[in-house]
Amino acid sequence: MPVEVLSEAAQEMLDWQGSGMGVMEMSHRGREFTTINEQALQDLRELLQVPEHFKILWMQGGGIAQNAIVPLNLSCGDSANFVVTGSWSQKSYQEAAKYCRPVLSAQRNPDDLEWANPSTWHLSDTAAYTHICSNETIDGVEFQELPDLLALGHESPLVIDCSSHIGSRSINWNLVGCAFAGAQKNIGPAGLTVVIIREDLLGRTLATCPSAFNYSTVAKANSMFNTPPTYSIYMAGKVFEWMKRQGGVAALEQAAIAKSQLLYNFIDQSEIFYNPIDVAWRSRMNVPFFIHERAGGQERCNEFVYLAKSAGLLQLKGHSSVGGLRASIYNAMPLEGVQALVEFMRHFEARS
Ligand SMILES: *Cc1c(COP(=O)(O)O)cnc(C)c1O
Repeated sequence: MPVEVLSEAAQEMLDWQGSGMGVMEMSHRGREFTTINEQALQDLRELLQVPEHFKILWMQGGGIAQNAIVPLNLSCGDSANFVVTGSWSQKSYQEAAKYCRPVLSAQRNPDDLEWANPSTWHLSDTAAYTHICSNETIDGVEFQELPDLLALGHESPLVIDCSSHIGSRSINWNLVGCAFAGAQKNIGPAGLTVVIIREDLLGRTLATCPSAFNYSTVAKANSMFNTPPTYSIYMAGKVFEWMKRQGGVAALEQAAIAKSQLLYNFIDQSEIFYNPIDVAWRSRMNVPFFIHERAGGQERCNEFVYLAKSAGLLQLKGHSSVGGLRASIYNAMPLEGVQALVEFMRHFEARS
């Protein structure tokens, strides 16, 4: 979270703009919260340049719930294509099998980049949609460009799980049918999920879909079918204002390039650290890195986490499923934070 946002929220915690109440105490249908909500929606639409024929929905349950909610709403029980590039798309592929017939269209192979060319994907013509995770948070793999399925002669709408890089780069909405993101990586606190969906894709929901997870129902009720996560929406709104003050998504994208380049450049010249991802697929948001076996491997990584913590550098442990180290350099992380990390890594390496 940007520090500015946290301190503004702290100021307003007990009394929001003279209303005599904090945001958590407001009715979600009252005038005050309606103002907060509408401003947040408008700012998000402006930041991501979401066209008018897309609806923005606030939902709950995070990205993992969307792994079920998407097939419930879009698959019609038919098949759906999945491009598995890492842990998150793998999870989506597995969960979807409860509601539709998932097709494994492609799977990332670190040793052979053939999968990386969308024209090699096995896209089923009868698929109701095609799912990708545009930034794999755990593996550190990011699509630098979204695939143009129509150009490949394939008609199903593209669904993107953009949870961990939303707001760090522009989205070409001509290529997308539905985008979803849990808020807690780049937007705000956990509890809020953003779904951005092309209007013509509404109305395909399976009858068994819970009403609160039905895109059409939620869209018709302006995301107030059930009580939305009001405080998370308020905080997200504050982040959107902060993003606009930074110069919008274009400026944040430039910052993400600068921050990630600084870190990758250091890793690439290091004798002990390495990042295993092909350069063209490296994520600007999540940089997993490891220490070579000859330099101490995982044990040395544990020591790194311990020493980094005492130097004030937090949350650098790799995801438990892959180990190693990971720097998540979301929008709110300033360049100085990455510079401090690189300096620390330089000293750590010099001591070895
Ligand atoms: C974090 C994350 C999720 C899961 O989000 P939850 O809020 O825990 O459900 C899904 N997809 C991606 C890409 C993520 O980074």
